[in-house]
Amino acid sequence: MYFREDPKHAAELLKQAIPLMVERKIPTNPCNFALWYAYVAERDHGLKKELDRDFSSSKSYFPEKSEELFFDYFVKPFISDNKDAQAAVVSLLNGLSSSALRTAEGAKDYGQALQQGMQKMQNESDPAKLEETLKGLLRETEVADDLNQAFYQELRSANEEIESLKRQLKDSEQNAFVDSLTKIGNRRSFDRALEGAMAMPGARPFLLLIDLDFFKKCNDTYGHLTGDRILAALGKLLQTFGADHIQVARYGGEEFAAVLSKGTIEQALNLAESIREKVTKVKIKQQDRIIDGISASIGVAQLRPGETKESLIQRVDKALYRAKGNGRNQVQSAEASSPEPA
Ligand code: GH3
Ligand code: MG
Ligand code: MG
Repeated sequence: MYFREDPKHAAELLKQAIPLMVERKIPTNPCNFALWYAYVAERDHGLKKELDRDFSSSKSYFPEKSEELFFDYFVKPFISDNKDAQAAVVSLLNGLSSSALRTAEGAKDYGQALQQGMQKMQNESDPAKLEETLKGLLRETEVADDLNQAFYQELRSANEEIESLKRQLKDSEQNAFVDSLTKIGNRRSFDRALEGAMAMPGARPFLLLIDLDFFKKCNDTYGHLTGDRILAALGKLLQTFGADHIQVARYGGEEFAAVLSKGTIEQALNLAESIREKVTKVKIKQQDRIIDGISASIGVAQLRPGETKESLIQRVDKALYRAKGNGRNQVQSAEASSPEPA
């Protein structure tokens, strides 16, 4: 994305962007400036839609989400990763095709030499001349063999290179879905998991939102770095709950999520309860003291037929809010409090 407005126009855009950011309580950092400047400049329809969806109110700001958007729309297009891979594949194929051509030419020469040799042998009865022809053929065979060997080697190394490129692409693809601090799925991975679970025909997935209790106080008491270590420990813990039908992710900040693509409400509540209990057992060593007493509040809801993702998240959020209001360190279900309309 390029910005080539003249200073006057740029100033106008900035004047429009700032009140929007203030209204939605978006921190005025460089990353957000870029996003909201692009928003008012209507530079990218997709970005505008995502910003409207994810930061619709003053309550919905998540630094991770805005960092991801920044990465997607401003950084990724300039990343050489895929361009390098593309260039490597092109040069690989170029090399292979000229080598295949050389081998094919060599095979043609060899075929001609064989033909000529056969003709000579048919018309020749002098053993010395026959021997000479045979020697000539042997030399031609060796040349053809060398060419084939070289081509074979080249195919092998091309194969290895293709494998390594495939691995590189897979790694960079996977990294785009992993949260660097907690090493579990990030918000993008959460979106993919939930959308995937919702896309299954007749699916009624469950969503768990797990929010650490009084985490701000935790940061204030032990320091932000220790806060980060607690979040990393939470990621490690949640990973142990991951399964084919259970996707865990960092939803944002000190909030985590689990998507259950199948099961019963009892199973979903049991999972939530089990996570809640394990969180209370987390212990972090800080110099010579042990930090414990960490807890989380969890909201649970099941997708209703025809329900949107946003509505499901809203209902889980409400349940979570109830868990906070009722004293934290507990699980609340959206299903129990508001039965599905018949
Ligand atoms: P509640 O029980 O109501 O959830 O209280 P809380 O303090 O956990 O909630 P609040 O939303 O007020 O604060 C969340 C805190 O999480 C504030 C923010 O500094 C902290 N936080 C968010 N992301 C990170 C992070 O990546 N690292 C650290 N160390 N702290 C983070
Ligand atoms: Mg929170
Ligand atoms: Mg919290």
